[in-house]
Amino acid sequence: MHALDIENLVKRYPTGTEALKGVSLHIEEGEFFGLLGPNGAGKSTLIHCTTGLAQPTGGSIRVFEHDAVHHYGAARSAVGLAPQELNLDWFLTLEEQLDYHGGYFGMSRKDRRERTKELLEEFSLTSKKDDRTRTLSGGMKRRLVLARALMHRPRLLILDEPTAGVDVELRLELWHYVQRINAEGTTILLTTHYLEEAEQLCNKIAFINGGEIVATGTSDDLARTY
Ligand code: ADP
Ligand code: ADP
Repeated sequence: MHALDIENLVKRYPTGTEALKGVSLHIEEGEFFGLLGPNGAGKSTLIHCTTGLAQPTGGSIRVFEHDAVHHYGAARSAVGLAPQELNLDWFLTLEEQLDYHGGYFGMSRKDRRERTKELLEEFSLTSKKDDRTRTLSGGMKRRLVLARALMHRPRLLILDEPTAGVDVELRLELWHYVQRINAEGTTILLTTHYLEEAEQLCNKIAFINGGEIVATGTSDDLARTY
């Protein structure tokens, strides 16, 4: 089964910029897929279209067979998003943060309580559960963003430049967490402008530039070509 099918996706902004010029990509369930490209290539636009935050100008997006362009509601619960701009609620405690997100996705109180406990444990945040989000270190905030994205058990996790602007030590730490998430069965779409990051993490990579996919392959294929 395909986790994500994007066909001929076009996005033209009102300014006239054509950020996506007919992009197609296919991600199989279980894959760790990297969308690699420089700033301005169209990565965020593709993510916004896939997560219901922007309306495509043309083309189709299917998330586990659900039409994500016309009926985003059906696709919504299958997708978890860890946005680049860590849009956390800074005055909530960690526990409240996760619980609130679970409520938004219709999880029962009991399920929210159990899932929150499990995720705080998994991301080594249990000792901070009653602290306010704004008091966390940078690394903990990024881990919390991952935990929140996974709260409603999405089958597809989208990571938008998860390590942009972080130091080497924290980058390695985050790599470890996202590799484990994939190993546990969650399909991942990761965007990055770091070749090394895509090579390290992803079993399939697409290069995007100027709103077009210019190459796709396994990391081994691409290492041979470039
Ligand atoms: P990336 O995430 O790869 O850096 P983006 O998707 O943010 O690329 O941007 C792709 C192109 O679309 C760029 O030329 C950018 O300036 C333009 N763009 C992005 N968002 C908007 C917007 N809201 N309005 C107009 N142009 C935009
Ligand atoms: P930027 O220059 O984009 O702000 P950083 O300051 O975080 O990036 O990183 C400094 C250097 O480390 C960059 O030259 C970049 O090539 C490299 N680097 C940063 N992040 C990664 C990454 N995730 N994978 C591989 N190399 C990276």
